[in-house]
Amino acid sequence: MKFVLVAAVVLLAFWLWRNGRQSRSDDEEARPAQPASRREPPPPQDMVSCPVCGLHLPRSDAVTGKLALYCGEEHRRSAER
Ligand SMILES: [Zn+2]
Repeated sequence: MKFVLVAAVVLLAFWLWRNGRQSRSDDEEARPAQPASRREPPPPQDMVSCPVCGLHLPRSDAVTGKLALYCGEEHRRSAER
């Protein structure tokens, strides 16, 4: 009977130790995430700037020319005449 009690205490101590370790690692994971969420989120898309007018636009919206990416067909033409 004494052995069962010792085994129960050891198991309880092990369980508490494991729980303590888990919650501590959770805290360590949560701490660096908090300042990151306060910071401005990174732009979801790659931004490019038009070399003619300097307008910044998403790469997917840019017109691809021979020399660079432009905000529109008009500036691509005027730059690559
Ligand atoms: Zn432009």
